[in-house]
Amino acid sequence: MGPGHPECPERLDAIEDRLLVTGLDVALERYEAPPAALADIELAHPRLHIAALRGLHDWLREDLEAGGPPYSQIDPDTSINAYTWPAALRSAGAAIAATDAVMAGEIENAFCAVRPPGHHATRDKAMGFCFFNNVAIAAKYALQRYNLQRVAVVDFDVHHGNGTEDILAGDPRALMVGIFQHPFYPYSGEHPAGPNMLNVPVPAYTRGMEIREIVDITWMPRLEEFKPELIFVSAGFDAHREDDMGQLGMTEQDYAWITMRIKDVARRFSNGRIVSCLEGGYALSALARSVEAHLRVLADV
Ligand SMILES: [Zn+2]
Repeated sequence: MGPGHPECPERLDAIEDRLLVTGLDVALERYEAPPAALADIELAHPRLHIAALRGLHDWLREDLEAGGPPYSQIDPDTSINAYTWPAALRSAGAAIAATDAVMAGEIENAFCAVRPPGHHATRDKAMGFCFFNNVAIAAKYALQRYNLQRVAVVDFDVHHGNGTEDILAGDPRALMVGIFQHPFYPYSGEHPAGPNMLNVPVPAYTRGMEIREIVDITWMPRLEEFKPELIFVSAGFDAHREDDMGQLGMTEQDYAWITMRIKDVARRFSNGRIVSCLEGGYALSALARSVEAHLRVLADV
């Protein structure tokens, strides 16, 4: 994204370091993400959007060779560089590969430590550090490839998952439940775009215990009624109280708790199948600790 940008490579380094320091890495099975097939990305994005990003990528490379700038700005806070296109393909590819591994029963659940994130990418627009909507692509892929009837998307990023809503709204095979700070970027979500959207906007300074109560009262009955066959998680950790990106009061204990609730639903209805994908989370230490808490519950260690 460019120097000084919060969506930086150090985010994944912080997670990696934390896994090493805690010894958690030896308890986990590691998969490399293959690039997604364009045909799979087309399940969630029209060809014009995909072509535009690929065209921008080629254009940027030509500029670079001619001595031009290393970044090309898409919106005030989203840029691409010469590696964005392959990274975005792998980010979506990770969600798809995780879906395959979980559906094949190789593993019960998966966490995709990916950049760029995805949940702000709408059908035809890259925005908010996102290019392809990794979770929405994988959800559409799971419905088609495995002929599932019901997939759920759980989004606990501090920002509303407007892109995922845009792609999945109105599809009765998908249920999306989300909790996010409001009013706040991207200034959407107050009025759900479809009956399959359960949006819970909460004001700034809502604390973790209050969020737990809201999740129990709102998400849980909907998820239990829906009985998902597979659960995707848009795992953003920017609602952490140490994360200046937002003003919510989550802690790593709250992330462990919310992961347990998701896991309970998965155990009851979806053979434990969960595919979780990293979204936001910009305070490096809090991000790493929160991912650790999330993974300890997912991996049961
Ligand atoms: Zn976010």
